[in-house]
Amino acid sequence: MRIKDKKRFIIACGGLATILILVIVVLTISFWHRNETQAEADRKKDSQTTTQTATTAKETEPVTNTQPAVTEQPAQTETKEEIKTATTVNTTGADSITILVNKNHSISASYMPSDLVTVDLPSTRDTQLRSVAAEGLTKLFKAAEGAGLALSCCSGYRSYETQSELYAWNVDTYGVDGAELVSARPGMSEHQLGLAMDVTSASVGYDLLESFGTTSEGQFIKENAHKYGFIVRYPQGKTDITGYAYEPWHLRYLGADVATAIYNSGKTMEEYYGTN
Ligand SMILES: [Zn+2]
Repeated sequence: MRIKDKKRFIIACGGLATILILVIVVLTISFWHRNETQAEADRKKDSQTTTQTATTAKETEPVTNTQPAVTEQPAQTETKEEIKTATTVNTTGADSITILVNKNHSISASYMPSDLVTVDLPSTRDTQLRSVAAEGLTKLFKAAEGAGLALSCCSGYRSYETQSELYAWNVDTYGVDGAELVSARPGMSEHQLGLAMDVTSASVGYDLLESFGTTSEGQFIKENAHKYGFIVRYPQGKTDITGYAYEPWHLRYLGADVATAIYNSGKTMEEYYGTN
C-alpha cells in the first residue's frame, strides 16, 4: 500500500470509528430516555392505583372512631369526607330519647318507634311523633301562643322508605354534595326516630326556610325550645360539625334535662356528646 493510500485508509477508519461511536452514544441516550419515561409512567400508574385503593377502602371501611370532637376546626373537606363515609349502626338504643343519630351513627332500616301518635297541633299535613315528644311539642306551641306567636308543624316521623325517597329526590335536584347538606341518608335521619319535628309559621309561608331563624317564631324557638325538651339541632355556623346546613326549623326532642344542658353549653349535640 502506498503512503497516500495508507493515509486515506487511516482517515476512512477514523471516520467510521467516529460514526460508530456517535451511533452508540445516540442509541445509549435514547435507550436511557425510554427507560426514564417508562419509569415515570409506572410511577404515575402506581400512584393512581394507590389512590383508587385508598378511596375504595375508605368507602367500605367501617369506622369505630369515637374520639372527642376537636375544638379547632378541621379542613371542611376532610370532615365532610369522614362524615360521609363513616357509619356506626346502632341497632339496640334507637328507643332511647337521647340516642345520637347522624352521618356517623345510623339506625337500622327496620326501626320504627312503637309509640307514635298523630300530632294534635296546627300542621301543614298529618304527621306523627313519639308520644313523649308530642307532649313536649304541645307545651312548646302553647308557650309560643302565650307570647302571641303561632307555630305550625310541618314534618315529624318519617319511615326509612320515605327518607330514601326524600334523599333520592334531593340527590336528583342538588347532586350528592348538595343533598348531603340538606337531607339525611336513610337510616341517618332523626325523623326516623319519631323525635324530630320541622316547624314553620305563616311568616315564612309555612315553608322551611333559613329566614325562619330571624322571625319572631324562629327566635322564640331558639330561646325557649329547650325548656320543653327540644334543641335546634343544626345551628348556624356548625355545618363542619353537624354535616348539615343551618336548619332553624328542625327540632330534636331529648327531654328537658339534656336539651337544657346542651342549650346552656352552647354546643352542638356532637360536641356535647364528645363524638362526631
Ligand atoms: Zn328535619
